[in-house]
Amino acid sequence: MLVLFPVCLYLLACTEAPEAQAELVLGTVCTINLYEEGSPQVYGTLFSRLRAIETTMSVTMADTAVDRINQNAGIQPVPVPPDLIEVLDQAIRYAVLSEGAFDPTVGPLVQRWAIGSEHPRIPEPAEIEATLSLINWQDLVIDHDAATVFLRRSGMALDLGAIAKGYAADEMVKILQNARIKRAIIDLGGNIFAYGAKQNGLPWRIGVQNPLDARGTYLGVLAVQHKSVVTSGVYERYAEINGKRYHHILSTQDGYPVYNGLLSVTIIADHSIDADALSTSVFALGYEKGRALVESLNPIEAIFVFEDKRIQCTSGALAWFTLSDSQFSLMP
Ligand code: ADP
Ligand code: MG
Repeated sequence: MLVLFPVCLYLLACTEAPEAQAELVLGTVCTINLYEEGSPQVYGTLFSRLRAIETTMSVTMADTAVDRINQNAGIQPVPVPPDLIEVLDQAIRYAVLSEGAFDPTVGPLVQRWAIGSEHPRIPEPAEIEATLSLINWQDLVIDHDAATVFLRRSGMALDLGAIAKGYAADEMVKILQNARIKRAIIDLGGNIFAYGAKQNGLPWRIGVQNPLDARGTYLGVLAVQHKSVVTSGVYERYAEINGKRYHHILSTQDGYPVYNGLLSVTIIADHSIDADALSTSVFALGYEKGRALVESLNPIEAIFVFEDKRIQCTSGALAWFTLSDSQFSLMP
């Protein structure tokens, strides 16, 4: 049994770029680099906003707003801050778009598998059946006037692991825009916003992880300006139990990790919340339905990496992407 955490490599990357600041928050290493415009004040504002988001949206910390909603499932609506309502509105939007493949009420299933924790396990089929019956975003009730959230049935639980970091990255962008910062790389545990352009006016170069190799090994590079780049993949968080790998994107249909021939999906979008929610949604939907969803949502682009080492790109992504690992082949 093996659980991998990205901590070491991110910290290494951070020593190479002394201007960057990193902190363990939102359950991951968050690194922000403001280059020549970095100041203790701006970094202070950025990281305290990240901690505030964690204090509202984490499921692992006690007494967050999300935790209170979960504790009160089937009992009563819970007053919540406006930022959580904003994230839940978006989560429901993606649940609708993905026909439930993405579901913010996936919490009970995430807890049963506990992938990424110290004690991952394979739930019994009967336990999976019972847990699946607790997952349904239509039983998540948001009262916008009262600013409350309610889970209709006891045992239900929210999990915002597939969307909260995207929201947080967009919040970082707002702070930087207010401070009139021109360029930055925001990396919230691999959820990236390449803000502005490089100092020479050229696009940022963002590596796309090789899902079959060590973290930090890229199969290619995306050249983008002011875009969010987010990948969901089988390598992000997984447990090895009895020689088989179980990764952390779970099927709301059958209750098991999603196996559909995809190794990773990278989404490139103007807003990180879209890129984050969509990377998980599209991965869970699979290539055919996932690509159709992306193409219905202009101007969002995607890169699909398959187990047989083929790569498919939407047309916009193709223009930004350069393949560097010849083991993989880019399909037309
Ligand atoms: P990462 O956390 O590595 O950025 P994702 O954005 O793809 O990866 O989110 C995966 C996380 O989302 C899981 O760890 C879990 O907390 C949650 N999750 C798993 N399956 C689903 C699903 N079908 N719908 C919504 N959230 C999910
Ligand atoms: Mg996601």
